[in-house]
Amino acid sequence: MTMSLPMCSIDFTNDEMGAEEQAIADRISELKAILGDDLIILGHHYQRDQIVMHADLLGDSFMLSEMAAASSAKNIVFCGVHFMAESADILTRDDQRVILPNLKAGCSMADMAVLDEVELAWTDILEQTGLKDPIDKSEDGSFLIPVTYMNSSAELKDFVGRHGGVVCTSSNAVGILEWAYERAGPKGAVLFFPDQHLGRNTALKMKIPHSKMAVWTPGQVNEMPEGVKIVLWHGFCSVHKRFTIEQIDDFRSKHPSGLVVVHPECPFEIVEAADANGSTQFIRNYVTQQAPGSHIAIGTEINMVARLDKEHENLSVECLDDSVCPCSTMYMIHPVFLMDVLERIVEGENPNQISVPKEVAAGAKIALDRMLAIKQ
Ligand code: SF4
Repeated sequence: MTMSLPMCSIDFTNDEMGAEEQAIADRISELKAILGDDLIILGHHYQRDQIVMHADLLGDSFMLSEMAAASSAKNIVFCGVHFMAESADILTRDDQRVILPNLKAGCSMADMAVLDEVELAWTDILEQTGLKDPIDKSEDGSFLIPVTYMNSSAELKDFVGRHGGVVCTSSNAVGILEWAYERAGPKGAVLFFPDQHLGRNTALKMKIPHSKMAVWTPGQVNEMPEGVKIVLWHGFCSVHKRFTIEQIDDFRSKHPSGLVVVHPECPFEIVEAADANGSTQFIRNYVTQQAPGSHIAIGTEINMVARLDKEHENLSVECLDDSVCPCSTMYMIHPVFLMDVLERIVEGENPNQISVPKEVAAGAKIALDRMLAIKQ
């Protein structure tokens, strides 16, 4: 695969770092120099500055996986969370290894869709609705198509791939759902994992009314409404769930001509009240396009917002929630962990490798490849 790789071009001065942090940063730079072309460090937009300053490439979860696949480096150190490293492992070659600096860096949303519960829900929804499993090769009928957000485990992606479904991201969700409905047939439906908010916001963009949506909560009785078009797994992101209408009202009262842009993992009331919504990349582009002097409030993770403010001196960029915490699991990638895995690679060890079992990777790759093949 050939693609141009957007390099991380942020100029960080290390003025705010203490002596210990500076020593860690210097050692990471030395280890990077030793490993040379055998190493690539990928950084998600939600990582702290002291990690991003070492990233060779910066992006959202899927961009980073694509970048990993396009890289020839043997060691891919993924400064993000577990599901991202899994996707990178699935998309990279067998002679490359993907390393997560802290194995505890998971994602609370991805953890909300456990395979056992998904399988129970799948059977129940098929029975209640009379829809068919796409595994059933029948040409006629109406189908239930599983669609999972990138922010999900490899096991769930495998389930989705084996049942005729597909992966989506926050930037391509509308195009992916259009594909799924075409495949489902006029009376078919989609089961969307694991983020109910991205699923609901995308369905609303496609003019699917709330009355044709259902939320599936494991362990409860979940009744499907007549003619249901989308069943939303109950998951949510604890960072994006924090934003409120009061915060938007407060910002607008201070800055009547200010702009509000949010991520579609936010609840639909927040998305409706905002001026724009979209993926992390969309938000970055949106900020760049505003006129000098604009005030912009953003509903997403604080590290990315603070960095956007730093990058645009002629704009005033702030987080909608001034007390918002960073994503607690992204924050588990501390520079000490990054330094530690690099030391161990240099010493010839194989630290914290993320390796998706072949039997799981097969279905997951089908679901990922379907996404890549769908024209957006
Ligand atoms: S911001 Fe939300 S969805 Fe993203 S990694 Fe953190 S918990 Fe998961």
